[in-house]
Amino acid sequence: MPPVDASGNNAPEEKPRRKPSHGPRTPMPEADAVERAQNFDEVALGYTEEQARAEAERCLQCRNATCIEGCPVNIDIKSFIGHMIEGDYTDAVTVLKERNALPAVCGRVCPQEEQCEIACVLAKKGDPVAIGRLERWLGDFDLACEIEHRCVPEVAESSGFRCAIVGSGPAGLACAGELGRLGHSVTIFESLHAPGGVLTYGIPEFRLPMHVVEAEIDMLSQMGVEIVLDTVIGATMTLGELTAEEGFDAVFIGSGAGLPVFMNIPGENLNGVYSANEFLTRVNLMRAYEFPKADTPVWRGRKVAVVGGGNVAMDSARTALRLGAEEVFLAYRRSEDEMPARIEEVHHAREEGVEFKMLCAPVEITGHDGFVTGLVATRMELGEPDASGRRAPMCVMGSEFEIECDTVIMAVGTRANPILSKAAPELELNKWGYIAADDLGATNLPGVYAGGDIVTGAATVILAMGAGKTSAIAMDAYLRDSSV
Ligand code: FAD
Ligand code: SF4
Repeated sequence: MPPVDASGNNAPEEKPRRKPSHGPRTPMPEADAVERAQNFDEVALGYTEEQARAEAERCLQCRNATCIEGCPVNIDIKSFIGHMIEGDYTDAVTVLKERNALPAVCGRVCPQEEQCEIACVLAKKGDPVAIGRLERWLGDFDLACEIEHRCVPEVAESSGFRCAIVGSGPAGLACAGELGRLGHSVTIFESLHAPGGVLTYGIPEFRLPMHVVEAEIDMLSQMGVEIVLDTVIGATMTLGELTAEEGFDAVFIGSGAGLPVFMNIPGENLNGVYSANEFLTRVNLMRAYEFPKADTPVWRGRKVAVVGGGNVAMDSARTALRLGAEEVFLAYRRSEDEMPARIEEVHHAREEGVEFKMLCAPVEITGHDGFVTGLVATRMELGEPDASGRRAPMCVMGSEFEIECDTVIMAVGTRANPILSKAAPELELNKWGYIAADDLGATNLPGVYAGGDIVTGAATVILAMGAGKTSAIAMDAYLRDSSV
């Protein structure tokens, strides 16, 4: 019998209050460290449905869900987890995709531990809800559905406007998805022979399988987004030609920051010295690990030094191990506390056998007959915090030492590639060569927007996606205003 209130009317039925699980964070299964260091298969294996539900059950469904503020694109985390608890996975994916077009990608590579998870109320007492793992599970759930059952955002009626996007990395893809959803015709121009930007050429298969990126990009094609490959804007065609000759009404530039930086130390021209970008592109995009089945070769070092302490350095070191190196060490000028790489990646690299040489700054690469034979480094100590807020490394005088190696991979940063801007001198750049754009991504040229690493310098996937989406909304307003 339904409950009856004081006046004798039926009272609304209240849902029984759910008791969240107080258990520890559900661990995610991983491939065995010794075995996985010999292949390119994915390391983190993802939750089963049972594990995902158990983890979702830990969420308190807080009235003030602080996790949402921690997410750079403000995904309604409480709501998607709420749907998961109820077993409504399709609704959960719909909530997720309102803000993030690539959940299976972001669930794998976003630094949630510094964003939504650190903002989760449970983080104060111990283990926050594993939001990233839940996002990944939902993203994979969606990808596993037949394409006609996948969650494809509704596309508005055609606006008649045509938008060009330069670059198919996370910024360009997010911008394309949003512009497509708003009813604009979208064409992406990508210089490489495959779309995805760093997701495809940089982040290795064992962290982000190519099929996941391809499947997420397929959804954009489903929405009508066209992708033109092998086209370098600034060489094949200029920025001006996109509007003047090709008739695009607005342009978004998401060309990333893919130009490698070197240290300018003696020996960097020796055979066996790679930029991390070249090394990872050969192996990931060109499949050099399958050479000679694949066309592109890669030098397989026996003893490999990787210089740097970010995700790019971790990816390079772990890739070198998988190519058969007997020893891989990482040289980083600060201490482990200052390393910008994700904790999970550092942990995985260490488990697989990468050696960490901290407070160690290379000063020269030595060689014989044109090939690398060693790395000369100096010991460092940490001083006061510098402009980045991290303690500044300082040389310990007279502490130089040499380590034997036959390969050096430089993972010390990247800059903006000037190809596009050289052919568009009217486009304003900042003093570091990145495109100058306001908070909405507007550049000094009418109808030309920019976002992602080409504006901020090397950052993260989710920040690039957020910038692409913000620009798409601004471009939509610009297009509609200009037609009035
Ligand atoms: P990109 O991803 O660089 O894409 C730019 C695209 O534009 C590329 O496809 C490029 O070929 C194309 N392009 C460039 N110039 C032109 C032109 N003139 N004409 C046509 N096309 C052009 N971030 C995380 O959040 N988590 C991680 O774990 C992580 N790991 C990383 C590992 C590696 C090895 C690297 C290199 C980066 C990593 N990052 C990570 C950073 C993250 O990938 C980038 O911040 C993000 O990809 C930037 O997106 P974007 O779209 O701005 O640029
Ligand atoms: Fe759930 Fe944590 Fe968000 Fe609260 S803050 S709703 S516990 S994920």
